[in-house]
Amino acid sequence: MAGMPKPQFPFAEIVRLTETEEKAIAFAEDLRWRGEVACHRCGSVSISRLAHRPGRYRCHGCRKQFSVRTGTPMESSRLPVSVWLRGLWLILSSSKGISSLKLGEMLGIQQRSAWFLAHRVRAMMSWAVRAPISGETVELDEVYAGAPPRQRAGGGPTGAKPGRGPRRPLVLTAAARGGEARFKLIASHSRTEISAATSAMIRSANTVMRMRCPPMPS
Ligand SMILES: [Zn+2]
Repeated sequence: MAGMPKPQFPFAEIVRLTETEEKAIAFAEDLRWRGEVACHRCGSVSISRLAHRPGRYRCHGCRKQFSVRTGTPMESSRLPVSVWLRGLWLILSSSKGISSLKLGEMLGIQQRSAWFLAHRVRAMMSWAVRAPISGETVELDEVYAGAPPRQRAGGGPTGAKPGRGPRRPLVLTAAARGGEARFKLIASHSRTEISAATSAMIRSANTVMRMRCPPMPS
């Protein structure tokens, strides 16, 4: 998949991050919500975690339940989130494309399931290959893969601050307010790498708001 953001950390790392379904869900939640779980339907962040259904939440706004799968291609799939994330890594990291046969073998799933997964992942990610974004205000945010859970509204894990170890792969996102978003996976939080990734994602902006990013040389 030419032009796609290629993961620059080893497959062993994504295997570690998804070694249990619980860990995989936490990682997917971090990628999707950047630390603040929000209802897919109404956007409310007033939610509670369902004690007996790991990864499921109830929204206090619309009273409906949701999970990290809701509103994504994962919603209509029986494959575990861990398989989706590993599949995503494999697809992004193979520059010449990976066959559904090979993908199925690597993920331990049937070729038909692998074909479905690859098809949905490509559809979902196609926006990432497009040109850098422009906007009045662009928000730049970072998520560290495998960072411990942050405090969530309505209870849940609390305590430890998100880690920022230099060995943790970083997902950098740029979102124009009311517009499009881009993301990139980079291997470290070095200023050079963040700076290069930022200029690849943002063409022009009057204001770039750095949400959790370290300061960059101007
Ligand atoms: Zn809601």
